[in-house]
Amino acid sequence: MSNAVVKIENLVKRYNELIALDHFSLEIEEGEIFGLLGPNGSGKTTTINCLLSLLSYDKGTVELFGTKMAPDNYEVKKNIGIVMQNVAVFEELTVYENIDYFCGLYVSDKEQRAKLVEEAIGFVGLEEFKKFYPKKLSGGLLRRLNIACGIAHKPKLIIFDEPTVAVDPQSRNKILEGIVKLNEQGATVIYTSHYMEEVEQICTRIAIMDKGKCRAIGTNSELKKLIRNTETISIEVVKPSDEDMKEIASLPHAYEAVYEDSKLVVRYSGGKHNLIRLMQLLSEKQYDMGRVYSEIPTLNDVFLEITGTALRDSE
Ligand code: ADP
Ligand code: MG
Repeated sequence: MSNAVVKIENLVKRYNELIALDHFSLEIEEGEIFGLLGPNGSGKTTTINCLLSLLSYDKGTVELFGTKMAPDNYEVKKNIGIVMQNVAVFEELTVYENIDYFCGLYVSDKEQRAKLVEEAIGFVGLEEFKKFYPKKLSGGLLRRLNIACGIAHKPKLIIFDEPTVAVDPQSRNKILEGIVKLNEQGATVIYTSHYMEEVEQICTRIAIMDKGKCRAIGTNSELKKLIRNTETISIEVVKPSDEDMKEIASLPHAYEAVYEDSKLVVRYSGGKHNLIRLMQLLSEKQYDMGRVYSEIPTLNDVFLEITGTALRDSE
């Protein structure tokens, strides 16, 4: 692969006894929005910090834009924009001054910088808040400022570490749209999140992380093909008898039937008339049915099958 913007090989990072990254490898091509999906503590932020040489690691190699990354590799750093998980801005500087400061780390020409700062402000929609100090901004606006500081110098690779945690829906949508737009303008993006819906929505490829390991990599549809689940049917119904549950679980293509949250949940692998068959069986046995849902697999199902635990549990 010649266009790899990021190449991580066999990265191992230990915090004393704890192995935060366990032989983690990854390649990201130019033009991707690459998602790192994993629950809290799976090693996403550690990966980013090692990638940028902000953190030393025990083993492995990191190459960015085809050169080995090192703490003093400023040529490479110029081409990278970072939007960290924790908002990092100066309280004593205004919105404009903050963005100008961060942009100034890479762009010394004043005229050019003024243009870039204005563009970044427009991009995140902070035009009306230029003269505001950070403490006057809501959480969502603060996140947008954090983003503007990271992208103003127009880096080729932009890293977003959980940029939508604790953000209102309006800012959240604006952030996701903004990331897609930056990518369309040519930036390669790394996007970490524990929200599978977001990753599903915007990422070209996704790595599923769990306990410092990369458990699977692929496009959204490739990942879903890795698992046996093709359909999950849930029906609001009183709890069927054990005997009936057995019969349900042995319907064609069904591989699991459970009763949870006042619903019968049946998981299938393949097959065409699963819903009709199941409803027929239940009505023959004279169960009163409430609402019925049929769902195709989500990344949560992928995570569940691959790791044995639900991604949702970690939120
Ligand atoms: P994520 O970003 O996916 O939530 P992190 O990369 O922050 O995960 O953490 C990975 C693991 O490393 C977790 O078990 C976390 O508790 C541990 N960890 C992170 N930073 C430190 C640190 N400075 N000291 C000790 N353990 C740490
Ligand atoms: Mg993190």
